[in-house]
Amino acid sequence: LTTADVIEEHRICVCVRKRPLNRKELTVKDLDVITIPSKDVVMVHEPKQKVDLTRFLENQTFRFDYAFDESTANEMVYRFTARPLVETIFERGMATCFAYGQTGSGKTHTMGGDFSGKNQDCSKGIYALAARDVFLMLKKPNYKKLELQVYATFFEIYSGKVFDLLNRKAKLRVLEDGKQQVQVVGLQEKEVKCTEDVLKLIEVGNSCRTSGQTSANAHSSRSHAVFQLILRRRGKMHGKFSLIDLAGNERGADTSSADRQTRLEGAEINKSLLALKECIRALGRNKPHTPFRASKLTQVLRDSFIGENSRTCMIATISPGMTSCENTLNTLRYANRVKEF
Ligand code: ADP
Ligand code: MG
Repeated sequence: LTTADVIEEHRICVCVRKRPLNRKELTVKDLDVITIPSKDVVMVHEPKQKVDLTRFLENQTFRFDYAFDESTANEMVYRFTARPLVETIFERGMATCFAYGQTGSGKTHTMGGDFSGKNQDCSKGIYALAARDVFLMLKKPNYKKLELQVYATFFEIYSGKVFDLLNRKAKLRVLEDGKQQVQVVGLQEKEVKCTEDVLKLIEVGNSCRTSGQTSANAHSSRSHAVFQLILRRRGKMHGKFSLIDLAGNERGADTSSADRQTRLEGAEINKSLLALKECIRALGRNKPHTPFRASKLTQVLRDSFIGENSRTCMIATISPGMTSCENTLNTLRYANRVKEF
């Protein structure tokens, strides 16, 4: 094990979470083609056909830091993914946690940005769990004496543009100064004093996110939502935790759509997810040159990808059904590449 390996080991965590078959999949008798044989292995049993038409299952195995099966609750997923990153921001670091996957695979369920009432458990997603632990940590004597204050931001990146979800979807400009510092001009930072405050803001942001849209999921599948908890000491940034519910990765296929807008959105999503992968890989290799300018998403997260004390966790969410097999394999391959150096 080299020093670089050790850094990488600690800096980047890549996990997979499988959700249960849903009602719709059960109704059409979709088959569960995913097994999690141990705590870090995912197996895909892909149905294939030979030239003589005999059918067989091609088994593919992937290994990650952790693999969570369909019976794993948010609290447990959180404990192994985002929880260690709470320490990072108290130690003056930058932390990011991404939910990556196909639309409907469980990104929002995991992050906890869904307050539509359909999912009562969402208030206990990673946003809320991280907030809870930030406020618990603040009470520890070591941190209490620092007199830290907590702020939250919540914004959306849609078609390469930034919108403030805590300020009626105001469109914001992203500026980079001479020192390569990236600023989202006018982004609202709201001070939060307790978990309840955070939940209220998430609710405000979520209703703002979907307003005016015919279908909540149609919109959220095309945009990245970024929720941040920022620690400040006498006004100066002490640490920052960015929690990101990414656009559906299947949108890349939209690049061949007949509709121009849909095509452009698909291309933009492709570009940002590719840039994200490269930025995380650069962080893992401790490479000085991070290609953060390649997309708006990576640009606004720039300060989280550089610096001595930056840590990232990716939770790749997957659907269990045979009908999702192709998307699932794409998700697993992407997640694998993030970890591969
Ligand atoms: P995405 O945000 O990736 O499009 P969602 O989080 O909206 O997907 O999940 C789609 C549906 O599946 C929702 O109704 C959600 O409640 C349900 N779901 C997702 N993950 C799980 C899980 N691990 N356990 C139970 N239900 C889940
Ligand atoms: Mg979602």
